Amino acid sequence: MQGKVELEKEIQRIDGRGYKAYKDLKGLYDFGSFQLAIDYVQGDPFASPSRLRVIVPMKVAKFPGETFNTPYKKIAFKDYLTRYFHKVLQREYRGVGGTGKSGMLTIDAPGQEILDRTSVYVDHEKVEARLEAGLPAKGRRILGKGCKIIFFDVLPKIVEKALLYDKIPEDELLSHIQLAEDQHALRQALEKENLIAFVANGSILPRESGISQKPLGKNAVPFISPESMEMTFRLPHKGEITGMGIKKGITLIVGGGYHGKSTLLQALESGVYEHIRGDGREFVLADPMAMKIRAEDGRRVEKVNISPFINNLPQGTDTVAFSTENASGSTSQAANIIEALEGGATTLLIDEDTSATNFMIRDQRMKELVHKEKEPISPFIDKVGSLHREKGVSTILVIGGSGEYFDVADRVIMMDEYRPKDVTEEAKAIAERDPDSSRGEEHAAFGDITPRRVLKTSFPRDRKGIKIKTKGVKTLLYNRLAIELYGIEQLMDYSQTNAIGEIIRILAQGRYDEKQTISEILDDIHQLISTEGLEKIASFQGHPGNLARPRKLDVLAALNRYRNLKTLPSSKR
Ligand code: ADP
Ligand code: MG
Repeated sequence: MQGKVELEKEIQRIDGRGYKAYKDLKGLYDFGSFQLAIDYVQGDPFASPSRLRVIVPMKVAKFPGETFNTPYKKIAFKDYLTRYFHKVLQREYRGVGGTGKSGMLTIDAPGQEILDRTSVYVDHEKVEARLEAGLPAKGRRILGKGCKIIFFDVLPKIVEKALLYDKIPEDELLSHIQLAEDQHALRQALEKENLIAFVANGSILPRESGISQKPLGKNAVPFISPESMEMTFRLPHKGEITGMGIKKGITLIVGGGYHGKSTLLQALESGVYEHIRGDGREFVLADPMAMKIRAEDGRRVEKVNISPFINNLPQGTDTVAFSTENASGSTSQAANIIEALEGGATTLLIDEDTSATNFMIRDQRMKELVHKEKEPISPFIDKVGSLHREKGVSTILVIGGSGEYFDVADRVIMMDEYRPKDVTEEAKAIAERDPDSSRGEEHAAFGDITPRRVLKTSFPRDRKGIKIKTKGVKTLLYNRLAIELYGIEQLMDYSQTNAIGEIIRILAQGRYDEKQTISEILDDIHQLISTEGLEKIASFQGHPGNLARPRKLDVLAALNRYRNLKTLPSSKR
């Protein structure tokens, strides 16, 4: 391994030369208390940034093993260190000027969620931060001075302040890890009690704005559970915590417009992840296999068995292996549900605001006008019961516009000025007083879920092979074909999208067995991530890139939106 001195000489030598000469810096350098790895050097000042790692041996960094000795603590540890490194970097470094990305230096900073990510690596040997940098340039010439500032002033200072146990705010790290322990304990308790969701009293659910995941400030009304739904748990650090527990089954959220229905559902959607202290949703947790379902007209659908919901389409269109380049509101919503079930979803989260009305309900008058044999759709209300009874899948549904669901609901929560009330009894009484005579379909069987296999012909190469690029959180590019992810509402972080790109690349490289179902393939990849780390799916060696772990259901959802996907039904059931 070369040392600092050699690196300095090298920079001296290439100073002022064309940008390409930066490539000569690639390698691993010993800085005494840490090592610097220059894994990738960008082609020019405007290209995607260079990738660096700073590696501190654990005998120098001295983080106690108890801060990362379980999977969930390790996630919290890496999350904390990433946030702290980012903070120090922001505080201590102002850039060095120059052209294009010149002087940029960043770590993949997380949002409100605590996700497993590759920005920091830790084991008993070392702790490592993965950075991106714009190597300094003036025009297209190497700016040696700026480069030296980054490598010899900035990085050593930040490493010193942000990667040594003695120097970081230890209490903050411990508090971060304690929160993770409490959240983990609460998740286990929910599972044991058969709850699909929990919202702690005092939680702040509304967000600052439609484009921010930060909590709403002073006007936020804290959440308080209806007494009848209150549950109390003991957490290892926080002690007793009380809040609203939602049991398996069918739960309605009703109430007047603007009373906080969607806000509650959105909090549950995000409850598949853990959140940082101060977020307001620290103890809002939901079934990790809960999937938000919406209508998404225009999406493509590839051979999905939507026959549990839709039959007898015009022109004899097949609904057992239903394909379309341009789904309607109702068929897209049906496909979204079936695909989620194919992936093993155990809870569905549905909001009337983003649903197709004709998919959700059909009232008595409409049934009279449009005869059953003319209406291909079995509305969700007729299936939600069998979905729970037969498949064990629960539903939480926001619906302010129709009382038809009172018949099938196990629990009805009314949002009233942002306060939930348990109105199950009243709703049931109303349903009994005024029974819907046209109902009765809901006792039929749900129908079959047909697992699919992915064909390798789904992933064509062009002249240059396979290129996968992330364009914002909700778009991936496969060569030049866009994969639109807007309908996947629980996908939160750009780095999750990067990771989905890497998983699609693994499939595109043919590294799977065509006999397996899509769901099995993704299970295998997730198993690999769990045992060997998220780094394992990276296509780039050394610095893995900015990856955060996506849920299996969201990866599957992305694949389902890939317009080149080709599948066959599996014989497995
Ligand atoms: P609904 O779905 O019932 O029509 P929303 O959930 O969309 O209502 O909420 C309406 C507005 O009220 C939103 O701007 C939301 O941010 C705000 N809001 C929701 N819950 C709260 C709360 N607990 N405190 C303050 N404002 C809230
Ligand atoms: Mg709403």
